[in-house]
Amino acid sequence: MSNKRASQGGSKKSTKKPRTVFKPCPIADSSDTLASAAPNISSTSNAPAAIPAAPTTTQHTRGYQVYSLSDGRLGMRHKDSSMQVESTTSTSAADSVNSAQTEAIVAAVFEGLSVEEAEGLHPDHQQHNFTKADAKRPRPELRASARVRDWVPHQTQFLDELLRFFGSEYAIDTGDVRCHGCDKSKASLRCTECECRKLFCKSCIVNRHKDLALHHIKTWDGDHFKRVSLESLGLIIQLGHDNETCDKPAETTRQIVVGDISGIHEVTVRFCECLDDTGDVLPQWTQLFRKGWFPATTKRPETAFTFRMLDIFQELNFQAKTNVYDYWRSLERVTDNSGGSTAIDRYKQFSHCVRLWRHLVMLKRGGRAHDPEGIANTKEGELALECPACPHPGKNLPPDWETSPAHIKWLYTLFLMIDANFRAKLKDRGLDDYELAPGWSYYVENSKFKAHVDAAGEQTEKNGCSAEHKAILNANLRREGYIASGVGVVLCTRHALIRKNTAGDIPLGEKYAIMDYLIFSTVLGVILALLLSYDIVCQWYKNLPRRIKELPPRLYYDLTATEVRYAIPKKHIRVHGPAHSRFSFNYLKNVGRTYGEGIEAQWAYLNPVSLSAREMGPGVRHEVLNDHWGAWNWQKIIDFAPRLLASLRDADKTYAAQHADYMDFSLSFTAQQVSKWMRAIHEWDEDPVHAPDPYEEPRTAVTLKSTRLQIADEEAEEIAAGTLPLHDVSPGVFLQLGLDLEEQQRNLRSKQSWGSRTEASLASIQEKRNALARRVDSWQTLQDLHMPIVAQIRVNGPPTSQPHASDRASVPAGTSPSPAIVPEHSHASAAPAPKSTSPNHSRKAEEILLWLPSALPVNLRSTLLAGLADKERRLRLAQADDSLEEIRRYRRILTGILEFKQLNVTGTGQKAGTKVRTLYTSFQDKIVRAAARYRAARSALETLDAGGDWERRFKVLLAADIRGPGRDSESNKPGEGRYEISWIWLVPNSAGELRNMAAHPDPAADTEEYLQNIAVEWAQSKARAERWGEEVKLLQEEMRRVIEYFRWKVQWWRDQAHLRDAPDAVTRGLGIYAARQAAIFEGLARRCVEMWFPYLKSRDGGVPVWMAPYATPDLIARVDGARTSRRRPRRAATALDSDDDTADEFSASEEES
Ligand SMILES: [Zn+2]
Ligand SMILES: [Zn+2]
Ligand SMILES: [Zn+2]
Ligand SMILES: [Zn+2]
Ligand SMILES: [Zn+2]
Repeated sequence: MSNKRASQGGSKKSTKKPRTVFKPCPIADSSDTLASAAPNISSTSNAPAAIPAAPTTTQHTRGYQVYSLSDGRLGMRHKDSSMQVESTTSTSAADSVNSAQTEAIVAAVFEGLSVEEAEGLHPDHQQHNFTKADAKRPRPELRASARVRDWVPHQTQFLDELLRFFGSEYAIDTGDVRCHGCDKSKASLRCTECECRKLFCKSCIVNRHKDLALHHIKTWDGDHFKRVSLESLGLIIQLGHDNETCDKPAETTRQIVVGDISGIHEVTVRFCECLDDTGDVLPQWTQLFRKGWFPATTKRPETAFTFRMLDIFQELNFQAKTNVYDYWRSLERVTDNSGGSTAIDRYKQFSHCVRLWRHLVMLKRGGRAHDPEGIANTKEGELALECPACPHPGKNLPPDWETSPAHIKWLYTLFLMIDANFRAKLKDRGLDDYELAPGWSYYVENSKFKAHVDAAGEQTEKNGCSAEHKAILNANLRREGYIASGVGVVLCTRHALIRKNTAGDIPLGEKYAIMDYLIFSTVLGVILALLLSYDIVCQWYKNLPRRIKELPPRLYYDLTATEVRYAIPKKHIRVHGPAHSRFSFNYLKNVGRTYGEGIEAQWAYLNPVSLSAREMGPGVRHEVLNDHWGAWNWQKIIDFAPRLLASLRDADKTYAAQHADYMDFSLSFTAQQVSKWMRAIHEWDEDPVHAPDPYEEPRTAVTLKSTRLQIADEEAEEIAAGTLPLHDVSPGVFLQLGLDLEEQQRNLRSKQSWGSRTEASLASIQEKRNALARRVDSWQTLQDLHMPIVAQIRVNGPPTSQPHASDRASVPAGTSPSPAIVPEHSHASAAPAPKSTSPNHSRKAEEILLWLPSALPVNLRSTLLAGLADKERRLRLAQADDSLEEIRRYRRILTGILEFKQLNVTGTGQKAGTKVRTLYTSFQDKIVRAAARYRAARSALETLDAGGDWERRFKVLLAADIRGPGRDSESNKPGEGRYEISWIWLVPNSAGELRNMAAHPDPAADTEEYLQNIAVEWAQSKARAERWGEEVKLLQEEMRRVIEYFRWKVQWWRDQAHLRDAPDAVTRGLGIYAARQAAIFEGLARRCVEMWFPYLKSRDGGVPVWMAPYATPDLIARVDGARTSRRRPRRAATALDSDDDTADEFSASEEES
């Protein structure tokens, strides 16, 4: 046990290291630590004789393929295929030796040896004689199972070694072993913590452990070793003099319990009673503290915990969310798992010390020890970690930022998002609510906040938008026995760091008064332009000027003094009705590509801990959540270097593509037409409330939106009536999210089948896939509530071995998963989901079956909550309607493009013609997607409502049906005799309106209609290009700010070093700590420069001016030198690696073992 612990050492890095990326030769790769770590046991392996060398052999491998590794060794691919081993035509002796060796190695590999072992048989093997095709394979895989299989022949040895290790290297059972220390006495003791197995006598082992009092000692008991404490061997720890002798030791000793990562120890200490300069004896707790032991009390301490234990616990708590109780119980088991001895229970003391430790660490990192004003004068929010990428005047903005011209000043906008989480509840257990550091970091000071919330009382704001249902739902979530129903919080939208003074407990529903308080306490004193985003901002902002007056005067914010704009997070805007373009991140100017999706990840990070925090006292809960937010922010801060670089690469690429699209688009029209559209957009920018919205799609049927709203209204009523179970998300919203996911899966699949297979596009698909997998994951937790039956199906497959005939609704519409994208190990059989405890991880995100009601077999569907299947039916009807309308709309546009081309473009040259063709293709793609959606909706309806009324309207959509309106002029078949109108034009939309465009004879009217439709498409394309252009600028500004902030922080820490008058040793400690902090931030700044400089240099336009001061001649030389041997961009490599099952499985199996 303890050995395994020691070897894994709790280090995250060590488990990552063996990840091997095999690169095609000849690029040198020395990162193959796996091979070097493999034990060399060639002497004992059952090596087969080398097979006689045939000139050319085609080896049918047993599921492996052998190829050469970058460093010249052989690799093995887990794949059933045949492979040609090239013969060497050379007759030179050396070559034939090499060739023979190679083949012998190959033969050995086929016999079941690992490549490393096989090579071990022929250590001088250098050359690799395999076909170029094999050598060129970009990412050979060595699967986790193959690794295990390689290992199996060693298992006996491993097991024997294990027993040998815990036995004895010395023949203690047969006779006397002499002490390794003095060579005089009989030895019978050894230490399990010291990195040796040597045996010592009693006095030697006690001497060796004067500075290592927390080691576990074992003594020989005739036929085995048993635990014995150093204390019982006579070790008494003298305190007060760093383990050296004391002039005036206390007369009595005391036994105390010390908790450490190695277990729980009972030690005997002797306190020091020497007098210091002031004639005092050093307090006992201080004597323990100076040993690195945190005493549980200041009065006559009998329990202490080592600093390293508190440290490790805190990290485990952040990362694994291990709670105090579990950690303490594990520690008890580490100490003695035999069940023989009674546990020493210090759980309560440990819990107490953890609380103080969190507090002290936060004060230390905030520089409160360095401030002569002392802890008591800590300012509100001072201990929160600021986002270095956000603008902070005086820290990372140029001195003249306020007077900079408008085209630059927008870069200094502060983007903030507001959100609430209703899982972070708090039970009322009548616990004492003392809070350390109240309001000093992320939570607002509670008493002031509470006074404001109580005074605000019930608020009934008029709801003018359909999207407020969440708030309505949550208002009803009030439960007896809870103090808080959730937590409201503000993050920076672009980077998702928690802002200082921004979290508050929500007593009942999401009230504006609460959100007002949180947002204005975090922007207190901020003079930057603001962009506030919030799910229901369209309602929230309306009466803001009035409500601001109701805030405590100290929070007063002058909305007219700075520019304040409002937006709805991109994901949420879809549930708002029409007329919301002015809250859209897509259409607002100067917002870049700001979407604020980080809020979900932040809650996901916090949710496990907020569950356990429900039971805590209100004060402790604040301290714990504050601590976790601090850790979250810090992780984000140290991650800026790779993250911003990756974002900039992506933005550069996307901007180029979007800008080209937009230019092409514009060139398809006359300058006159384009400037007319430009004017319309400009007018809207100036006055978005009254000017016509250039982005609003002229849709005749938006039935999906209205059906969604209808269902939401009904659900709000049901909740009010108490007939609907209370979940955070209503069934209707849950289904809508499911349909959205299904759509995203379809899009990802089509991207894959059409997209190019370059590394970059694979990486971007992988990113999308990861993001989608996360979304599916969190949606499935909702599904567990709304469709509990599915949890079982996901693991075992449906009860019948055959998937239901019409679950095509959630499998690809019209396609079956192509063999290429079915994971190899899933043995695609009748069962739709592979049998696995976590199917999500073994499948690609776009292939995960969602198991919406329509995908369930009839017998299971009947077990669902009443009304769920019917809600899906209604949504599917709307989906079919909308998809059909979309097909018609895009068909109209296509027809328009062709007619427009004939009327306006003909004769303006070939270039314009090409542009038009590009345009045409892009709309065709949209039609294909809409058609796929229609088919999915229809096949779901077949299951949910077979033989229903809908069948008359929604026919099977064949590819040939997608034509019209009018005669297909593109088919160019003169004399095509009979023309039939496709049924798609004869379906009345939900309004019952039949737009028989098909028979429309008037080309002029067509063109007018076309121009109206296309203007929206053009405006959107323009907006896309502009947002990406802004993003490129914004990202560079953020890079600049991050480095500037780090450097400001370096200086700040240097300034803190010697502000205080303190005892020498404390002053020294303050200086050393400040220097270390400065070094950390200096390191962060350097890492940014070194990671970013090469890329920035390679871009058009070269290195930005702000980077110049950091670009040392040394760095420039290195970058120029490295350019000749350019490696794969780091980010692409990571993205691909995560696609690589090998790596994932490897680390996963490491964790399991
Ligand atoms: Zn000895
Ligand atoms: Zn030891
Ligand atoms: Zn002393
Ligand atoms: Zn930020
Ligand atoms: Zn709205």
